[in-house]
Amino acid sequence: MATSSVEAPAPRAFATGAPVGRDALLGAAIRWPRPSLLEAPLELNGKAAEAAQALGLNRVADLLEHLPRARRDARSIAALEPGETATVVAEVKAIAGRPVRRRGMRPLVEATVADGTATMKATFFNQPWLLQRYRPGTRLVLHGKYAGRAAFRVSHHAVTEETGAEAGEVSHYAATVGLSSTQILALMAGSRGLLEEVVEPLPGRLRARHRLPERRTALAAVHFARDGEEAETGRRRLAFEELLLTQLALLHRRARRRSREEAMALDSEPSLTGRWLAGGLPFNLTADQGAAIETIGVELAGSRPMQRLLMGDVGSGKTVVALFAMLRAAEHGRQAVMMAPTETLAEQHFAAIQRLIGAENVSLALLTGSTPAARRADILAKLESGELALAVGTHALIEPGVRFASLAVAVVDEQHRFGVRQRAALDAKAPAGLVAHVLHMTATPIPRTLALCRHGDLDQTRLTELPRGRRPVDTHVVTGGRERARAYERIREELRRGRQAFVVCPLVDEPEDPGAGWWGEAARGAEAAAEARAATVEYERLAAGEFAGFRVVLLHGQMHHRDKQAAMAAFAAGEADVLVATSVIEVGIDVPNATVMVVENAERFGLSQLHQLRGRVGRGEHRSLCLLFGSKTSTRLRALADHADGFALAEIDLALRREGELIGTRQSGLSQFRTARLPEDAALLEAARACAERVIDGDPLLCSPEHVLLAGALAAALGEEAERPIAA
Ligand code: ADP
Ligand code: MG
Repeated sequence: MATSSVEAPAPRAFATGAPVGRDALLGAAIRWPRPSLLEAPLELNGKAAEAAQALGLNRVADLLEHLPRARRDARSIAALEPGETATVVAEVKAIAGRPVRRRGMRPLVEATVADGTATMKATFFNQPWLLQRYRPGTRLVLHGKYAGRAAFRVSHHAVTEETGAEAGEVSHYAATVGLSSTQILALMAGSRGLLEEVVEPLPGRLRARHRLPERRTALAAVHFARDGEEAETGRRRLAFEELLLTQLALLHRRARRRSREEAMALDSEPSLTGRWLAGGLPFNLTADQGAAIETIGVELAGSRPMQRLLMGDVGSGKTVVALFAMLRAAEHGRQAVMMAPTETLAEQHFAAIQRLIGAENVSLALLTGSTPAARRADILAKLESGELALAVGTHALIEPGVRFASLAVAVVDEQHRFGVRQRAALDAKAPAGLVAHVLHMTATPIPRTLALCRHGDLDQTRLTELPRGRRPVDTHVVTGGRERARAYERIREELRRGRQAFVVCPLVDEPEDPGAGWWGEAARGAEAAAEARAATVEYERLAAGEFAGFRVVLLHGQMHHRDKQAAMAAFAAGEADVLVATSVIEVGIDVPNATVMVVENAERFGLSQLHQLRGRVGRGEHRSLCLLFGSKTSTRLRALADHADGFALAEIDLALRREGELIGTRQSGLSQFRTARLPEDAALLEAARACAERVIDGDPLLCSPEHVLLAGALAAALGEEAERPIAA
C-alpha cells in the first residue's frame, strides 16, 4: 500500500516570515507572562512620586500604558545654540568621574557623547553610579541645557535603543511638574523588561489573520521605536484592539439583549401589506426602499426584537418603509406607534401616513401634548381596547397613563435614541413578557465610522437613492451687496411665477458666554430668544423692503403654538409667498411648491444642518435653488455647493470637525479613543467590526477558552459600561 507523505510546511518566524530552524525551535525559551509583576507599585521618591500619582501612574502597568503623546525629533548636537534647552540622542564615547570641591556634592560624571554631527561633553551632577551604568557604546536620550563650548548640562536622561547612529525620534509624554517627559522615558526604559509580563488578549488565530504584532511588541514599538513607521505599526496594533473591544462591547450587549428579550413574531401571510404594496401606493418603491422593506419584514417575522436604524436623507422616503412595519403589526391585529420629537413633526407624519394608507381601512390617531383632553381620553380608551391600530405622536405616547392592548412595533423618528429610562417606558407598553420591535429613523446622514461607534449595537439600513423625480438643488454661496441684490431679484422672479421661498435666520451675534452657555438651559433659552429676535428683525426688513408687495410670514420657536401652526398652514396652503424663520423649520416641513431656500449667516450653521435645510426645497416638480449668504472661502459652504449626497457631506463634515478638534475648538464625538484615530483609521474600524461580528457569532457570551483573556480585557477596558443595559 502506497503511503502519500505530506510534508509539513517549514515553520517561519511570525511577521518576518524568515525560516526557523529545528535548533532554534528547541532552544526557544518557554515562558508565560506573570502579569502580577505589573501590579507592583512604581518605585519613585519624593516629588517624582507625587507627580506620577497626579498623572495616574501608580503601578508599573500604568506606566507601560502611558502612551506617548507625540514623537519629537531629537536635535542634532551640531545645531545646538548656546543657552538652548533641548533633547538629543547620542552615544557615549568615553565617561569619567571628577571630584567636586563643594561640600556635600558627589563626584561629577562627565561623558563624551557623539551623534554623528558633533561631539560634546555631557555633565551629570550628583549621580556617580552613572559611571558604571553608561558604559561607552550606550545610546542615551539626554535632556538638558546647552551651555556652549561643547558642554551640555543634563537634567533628564534615559537609555534608548542601542543601535543606529543618526539622531532619531524620541517619544514625548504627557508630563507634569516634577516628572518630565524625558524622566518618564527613562522610567519606561528601566521597566522595559517588564513588557514581557504583558498579557496578550487577542487569540493567536485572530492576530495571525490580521497580521498584528503581539501586544508587548506593540507597546515596545510605541515607546521605543526609532522611526515613525515602526511606532505606527505598534499604534495600529493597539488601536485595533481598542476598536475591537468597543465593537465587542456593543455586539455583546446586543447578544445579551437578544438572549433575554422577546418580541411578537409577525409572521402570517401579508394580506393587507401585500395588497398595499402591490397597488395602494401612489408611486413605485425605489430599490433601496424595497430592500429595506424586505429586511424589516423578515426581522418582524421573528421573535427576536428588531432594533434597526433606518438612515436616509431628507426626502429619501423613510416614511413608507416605517409605515410598512406599522401595517405589519396592524394586519396581525396588533398595534404600532410612530414617535416624533416635536408636535410639528408628529402632525406631518400623521398627515403623510394618512395619505400613504390611502384607501386601506386602518384606524389611525394623532396624540401629542396639545391633543384636547376629551379627544385624548377617547384615544387612550381605544388604544387600551385595541380598537385603534396605529398612533402617531410625541413622547405623549409613552406616558404612564397610556396603555396598549397589544403594542408590537414602535417607530422612533429623528435619531432620538432613547435613554435607558425611556426605553423601559416603551418596553412597558408591550404585553407582559414581550418588548416591541423598534425601528429608529434618522435623516441626519451619519458617516459610517460614526454610525459604527455610536450605533454599533443597532442593525443599520441606509436609503441612499433619491426617489424618482427628485432633483439636486442648485446651490450658490452669495457674498457681498451686489450678489445679494441679484439674489433677491432672482427670488422675486420665482415668487412672481407662483413659487415660494424660505428665509432662515440664525442669531447674528455670538452668544455672550459660549463657554458656560452652550449646555445650560438658561443660555439655550437666551439663544432661542436671540434667534427669534434676529428672525423678527429680518422679517420686518424684508416685508417692507425686498419683498414688499409679497405675502411674508414669520415663524420662530418662541411664538405661541397656535400662531406657529397658522404661519405654517398659510405657507403650506400657498397663502404666503415667503416664510422667514429660525432653524425650527430644519426638520419636518413639506411644501413642494417652495423652490428657494435662503440661509442668512450660513456659516453659523453646521454642514449637516445646512444640508437638512436645503432638503426643504427640491421636493416638487420645479427646479430649486439654495442661496447661502456667507463667505466664498468657507470650506463648509463650498462643500455644500459641490455635493448633493448627504452621506458624502457627512464624511466631509467629520473630516472637517476632526480638524476642528485638533485645534481644540469642536467636538466630534470620536475622541473617546486612546490610540485609534478616526476617521483616518476607518479601515481598521471596519476590520475590527468584522472581527467582532465573527467572534460574537461563534461565541456570543465570550465564554470559550480562546476568548477568556479577551473577555477579561473587555471588562477591564470598559468596566460597567460593558454591562450597562442597552438604550433603545
Ligand atoms: P423622508 O421621511 O425620508 O424625508 P418621506 O418619506 O417624507 O422622506 O418622502 C419624501 C417624499 O417623497 C414624500 O412626498 C413621499 O410621498 C415621496 N416618496 C417616497 N418614496 C417615493 C418613491 N419611491 N417615489 C416617488 N416618491 C416617493
Ligand atoms: Mg420624514
